[in-house]
Amino acid sequence: MKKTILVLPGDGIGPEITAQAVRVLEAVTEGSDLTLNFVEGVIGGAAYDAAGHPFPEATQVAALAADAVLLGAVGGPQYDSLDRPLRPERGLLGIRAAMGLFANLRPAMLYPQLADASSLKPEVVAGLDILIVRELTGGAYFGQPRGIRTVTVNGQSLREGFNTMHYNELEIERIGRVAFEAAMKRNKKVCSVDKANVLETSELWREVMNRVAKDYPEVELSHMYVDNAAMQLVRWPKQFDVIVTENLFGDILSDQASMLSGSIGMLPSASLNDKGQGLYEPSHGSAPDIAGKGIANPLATILSAAMLLRYSFGRGDLAERIETAVSRVLDQGLRTADICTAADRKVSTIEMGDAVVAALR
Ligand code: NAD
Repeated sequence: MKKTILVLPGDGIGPEITAQAVRVLEAVTEGSDLTLNFVEGVIGGAAYDAAGHPFPEATQVAALAADAVLLGAVGGPQYDSLDRPLRPERGLLGIRAAMGLFANLRPAMLYPQLADASSLKPEVVAGLDILIVRELTGGAYFGQPRGIRTVTVNGQSLREGFNTMHYNELEIERIGRVAFEAAMKRNKKVCSVDKANVLETSELWREVMNRVAKDYPEVELSHMYVDNAAMQLVRWPKQFDVIVTENLFGDILSDQASMLSGSIGMLPSASLNDKGQGLYEPSHGSAPDIAGKGIANPLATILSAAMLLRYSFGRGDLAERIETAVSRVLDQGLRTADICTAADRKVSTIEMGDAVVAALR
């Protein structure tokens, strides 16, 4: 089997961490019946520098032609003064929309070796394993109309920013199915997070989730308001198995959940469309503060590569080999600076990649 992966390193630490994930993918497929063909492209600020646009036509064509996309991260302070449509983040929104990536899967799990890295008490987070399923192509991030307009308030001319949040039944149903299918392979619990006491979009969201749940009688569905969910995530996160929510709420809750595990440098993500194509990237950003220093943690990207093998290529066996190798490296006490305590051996980005490759072999 031959598959093409488009690698988009992006900005900041992106090139450093994707390089290690590519090495790990090469190592894990060595001698297997899966041959990977890597194609490299530009996105974000790097694409703006090279082609004058954060999501150039060539990247779009390559993304649609690839079997999967592995992305580093985009953004950096040098691009903050650009007009909004040219900002690096628009590259991300662009590729999500172009590939129709409506489902974002973000596991938040705590490796037992890192229990001390969490800011919460070990007993609250030990054994944590939750999956956040975030709707990714709808809601306020994409809704039209949007913009900044001039309005008159009490005779005074003021600028007013406005965004629109809308969801149709189809959009809610398909993300609901992704969550219920995932729960079937886990602990069979889905918590749908909304703000149905205030928002009409949430009222419909809840109604459709209840409808989808009828097709999954083995899965227990609960509903929670987003403000309560934010609180429950730090109070007792282990009550959750799968959380499903809309784009904006999911953006915030998944970052919050990621910190339960100590470092955002550990958490992978997958964004899927309905054709099995996916984009895989770490949950963190481009970390401009440590870019180029060789100290970034590549494990979130390496674990994203494992998700790529599992979800886009149906190779859970190879994904598990990567996950086991990561766990073995942590057992050896190797840590990049973000997860390092006095008792550990501090390693660089490349040394961490070396260690995972060695553990695989
Ligand atoms: P960030 O995730 O880049 O960094 C937050 C903190 O975590 C920083 O201290 C950083 O050094 C640290 N960190 C992040 N990843 C790390 C890793 N792999 N290893 C070690 N430490 C790591 O978030 P930010 O600082 O809010 O944003 C920086 C830039 O990234 C901005 O331009 C933002 O727009 C962009 N961003 C991009 C994405 C993405 O590409 N998906 C996501 C979030 C933010």
